[in-house]
This record gives sequence, structure tokens and C-alpha cells, in this order.
Amino acid sequence: MVVVMAPDATEEDIARVVQRVEGVGGEANVSRGVTRTIIGLVGDIDSFHHLNLRTLPGVADVHRISAPYKLVSRQHHPQRSTVWVGRPEIGLTPIGPDSFTFLAGPCAVETPEQTVAAAQMAKAAGATIIRGGAYKPRSSPYSFQGLALAGLQILADVRTVTGLPIVTEVVDVRDVEMVAEYADMLQIGTRNMANFGLLQAASESGKPILLKRGMSSTIEEWLLAAEYIARRGNLDIVLCERGIRTFETSTRNTLDISAVPVVQAASHLPVIIDPSHAAGRKDLVVPLSRAAIAVGADGLIVDVHPHPEDALCDGPQALLGTELRELAQAVRQLPPVLGRVDAADLTRQLA
Ligand code: PEP
Ligand code: MN
Repeated sequence: MVVVMAPDATEEDIARVVQRVEGVGGEANVSRGVTRTIIGLVGDIDSFHHLNLRTLPGVADVHRISAPYKLVSRQHHPQRSTVWVGRPEIGLTPIGPDSFTFLAGPCAVETPEQTVAAAQMAKAAGATIIRGGAYKPRSSPYSFQGLALAGLQILADVRTVTGLPIVTEVVDVRDVEMVAEYADMLQIGTRNMANFGLLQAASESGKPILLKRGMSSTIEEWLLAAEYIARRGNLDIVLCERGIRTFETSTRNTLDISAVPVVQAASHLPVIIDPSHAAGRKDLVVPLSRAAIAVGADGLIVDVHPHPEDALCDGPQALLGTELRELAQAVRQLPPVLGRVDAADLTRQLA
């Protein structure tokens, strides 16, 4: 942390800062320039925060140098992490720096037939994790809200039929325990990224967490949300960039491609991309998926539906089974060029 003194700060003002910092066991290195003095602080940053140095006379500014998150930071954990998703009976599939993981499924669980059909399309295209929402966080209270427990039971059947693990969203603290009973990975959606009570409860479930970026959140806010999960003891966190709000209206959101390398430099957590929710248009799913892999994403999560025209949620962005296979084909050659192994191959070795 660096304290910048005002040009008219007195020796007494400087001494007051030094005394306060030393009072909490810190070290204050005073550096006097021609017009200004700066004070470099060394020690426990949290105790410096409590000093409210910015409020002292003669202090012009206080700058933090280290990241405000620790457990998810790469500073303290230089090696990038791999998160394993699944259960012993069906095997575990990795999401991390050595592999490329393909997750797919319907946006929402609507009926057993629709969900099983979508999951089989996902599996046929090479997906190793099935997605599907039983609790849907809809912008409108009049939109389909999901099948809740009945949806979770359908997802459990889908796991049995496909032999693949399930990721599904949890939107309420009160549902965490039940969702965790059925799911192999809990999704926290964009609308709940900063629901800190939910993040903590999800962490305590012990299940891996898929944490989507808030649609209006900075990368720092996103990583601080991940830190909430990590602080409760669960470091099995995968980040998902799903587009952010901008002035552009031709896509539903704007996919922030640069978030991938920025996150990977700052955090050891894996990061995947959701081109379906980012664009909201199926014609952009292939090009955005190519971009996602090229920029270094650790995986893709894509919506598929047997009848997008009848979908109760996000039909315009859902691919048909044939289109999902075409997508898989279109991007197949990219991960190996980047030194990544298809997660499906690693999954089989472990199962
Ligand atoms: C979803 O994945 O179904 C979803 C609701 O996504 P997001 O939270 O990114 O809008
Ligand atoms: Mn959706």
C-alpha cells in the first residue's frame, strides 16, 4: 500500500501516518520528493485498512498495490488449478489448464423427454458435463421459473442415462442442500454473482461451483465473489464469462474475450466461456466458441435443445443436435494446437 501525502502536508502529518502504521505492527518507508512525500507500507494490509489513513490530515490518496483477493489469487498460488467434476460411479472430468472441457445441455429442464434428448445430443457432440436449469432466475416473474425438485430428479435420471455429471443452477440459499444432493456441480448465475450468502452456502455444500460473471461486474468484483466461496473452504471454483452489458444491442450481451487472459493472469481458477448466453443468437455460437478457445478458455458451455422453437427459455440461442455436432467439429482442431487434451480422454482414464 502506498500513501501519497498532499503537497502541503506537514512533518507532523507525515509522522502521524508513520506512527499509526507502526502502531499496528507495520513498516512505513517515507520517501521525500521535491513537492510530495509518499509512504510505502509493508505488513498486514487488512490492519492498514482499519486505520482509515485517507481520513488523516495531509493524506491526499492511498493506493492498494496487491490484489484485494488472496485465496483465488495467482500471487499465492502460481500454478493454475484443475477442478474435477463428477462422482466415483461415473468418473471425474477435469476443467483446467491441460484440458479442454465441453459442457452442453438445455437452458432449462422442461420435460424428461426434452432433457434426455438434449443431454444425448450433448453427449453425442462430445460434451463431458451436462447442463440444465431446474431453478431458472428469470428477469420476469411471469416467465417459466423451472421445475424445481421435479427438474432435479430429471437431471439425476439424465446422469444415469448418459453416465455424465450434471451442473445446475441454485438461486436460493434455502435450496442449496437439496440441489447439492442431486447435482455434481452448482452453478451460480450472473444475477446472483454478488449474493454473498448464497455463495457461502454453495461453498459449504462441498460441490464444485460454476461461478458466472455478473452482467455488470468488473473482473475484480467477480474474483472477490470467488473469494467469498474460497473463504468458506471450497476452492473447487470454475469461473464462467457469459457476456457483459454494454451499449451494443445486436447481441444480448457483449462477450468479454479479454476477461479470459486477464483472469488467468490474476487467478489460478479455471475459466470457461458461455457463447450462448453471451450472444443470445445461435448464429454466433460457432465464431465465439472459436474465439474462446483461441484466447485460452479452459472450456465452453453451450445450450442445445431438440426443439428450440418450443423452448420455454432462451430458444433463440439454442443449437439443434446436428448444429452442436457441427460446432464440435468446427472447433475440434483448436485445443490440441494450444497444447490441450480433450477432457473426454482424461475422464475415461480416471473412471
Ligand atoms: C443459464 O446458464 O441458464 C443462465 C441463466 O445464465 P446466466 O446466469 O449467465 O444468464
Ligand atoms: Mn438461459
